[in-house]
Amino acid sequence: MSIHIDTDCVIVGGGPAGLMLALLLLRQGFQVTVAEKHADFLRDFRGDTIHPSTQELLSDLGLLDEFLARPHDDMPRVRLSWQGTELTLADFTRLPTRRKAMTFMPQWDFLDLLADTASQHPGFRLLRSTRVTDLLREEGRVVGVTGAGPDGDVTVRARLVVDASGRDSEVRAAAGLAPVGQAAAMDVLWFRLTKRVGETYPFVQAGAGMIITIDRGDFFQIAHVIPAGSWTGSDPDLADMRERIARISPRMVDAVATVTADDVHLLRVKLERLRRWYTDGMLCIGDSAHAMSPAGGVGINLAIQDAVAAARILGPVLRERTPKEKDLRRVQRRRTWPVRVTQFVQRRLQGPLIASREPGEPLPLPLRVLRDHPRLTHLTGRFVGLGARPESIS
Ligand SMILES: Cc1cc2nc3c(=O)[nH]c(=O)nc-3n(C[C@H](O)[C@H](O)[C@H](O)COP(=O)(O)OP(=O)(O)OC[C@H]3O[C@@H](n4cnc5c(N)ncnc54)[C@H](O)[C@@H]3O)c2cc1C
Repeated sequence: MSIHIDTDCVIVGGGPAGLMLALLLLRQGFQVTVAEKHADFLRDFRGDTIHPSTQELLSDLGLLDEFLARPHDDMPRVRLSWQGTELTLADFTRLPTRRKAMTFMPQWDFLDLLADTASQHPGFRLLRSTRVTDLLREEGRVVGVTGAGPDGDVTVRARLVVDASGRDSEVRAAAGLAPVGQAAAMDVLWFRLTKRVGETYPFVQAGAGMIITIDRGDFFQIAHVIPAGSWTGSDPDLADMRERIARISPRMVDAVATVTADDVHLLRVKLERLRRWYTDGMLCIGDSAHAMSPAGGVGINLAIQDAVAAARILGPVLRERTPKEKDLRRVQRRRTWPVRVTQFVQRRLQGPLIASREPGEPLPLPLRVLRDHPRLTHLTGRFVGLGARPESIS
């Protein structure tokens, strides 16, 4: 059996960028189909941070109470522990937003909220377990996508095609768009650690690489930042990892001793972006347009801000006519600057994040500046919490 759909907009990828764009276009009265290659959003290899600016957006959409009704943790300040020295990296308490905290919520809960809300609109179709593999073209213009779903071939024709399928997008490649960037200096090891009742850790611990600890209730999700290329999964690598973690966080030693190489996922950090985010008929947003480093945990925020800008710029165009390249270019122009600024700062932060210091050695310069001038943490809070160019639906 094959499925044929005609719609206003088809979005490849049901991540934060794709589902937010879908919801915003549906609210403007358009028909939207999202193709998502997985059956559900239940994957833990994803980020959990929902920033104050995204919560402001949820409030504008009337979804904040529903969002906060789901299990979450609030973090008004990002604190760092560096070999016994405690300091604040970013303070959100003075932001001009309704919510003055970064909120941790498993990404699947957040995506479920967006998908459930989108489903209340009659024009929405979410094609789960549907992988898009190619583009439909007519006279050189992209007019839809093709792929395979649980019931066979899928063809979706649309006036606007948006690729929000993440940093390894095959759709982007099919469109002939290739990202450029510099090799990142770091990789991330992602694994679970058992949690004893009442046990807590600082969110960021550093000193020989960095450990980020996300409390997921009955276990800790660990993101351990290491120099790029230093993990192959071998026994010596595992021993090195345990030794580094023991230096950064001696209390974690027992729990990390039970972690095997099979438990560890390697995330190769990419810092790259497309020179051109669009081709005639198709626009890339989110990680597909710009893969971010995990520094600052801003990838979800930026992906959502792209979606807001795209809906605000392209919605009025779609009402009148089929978007042209010049319309898609306006979205890129709006969003390139915040991406460039954020990637610049992330590149500068890579050194301190993976720096290895012996006890007693001074803190890296950026951390000393924040320790000695704590008012600056409101500025870093603004940069992390709102982004370089916040977007709003109004
Ligand atoms: C381990 C890890 C931890 C992270 N931690 C954080 C964090 O704490 N905070 C933060 O802000 N960011 C974090 N990030 C980055 C963040 O997850 C991304 O920046 C963000 O999810 C990008 O959103 P997106 O919608 O652009 O793409 P994605 O979230 O990557 O979504 C793309 C979607 O497209 C689907 N897809 C891919 N190919 C196809 C296809 N061919 N057909 C159909 N569907 C397809 C995928 O299944 C996926 O659901 C982390 C990333 C990783 C990997």
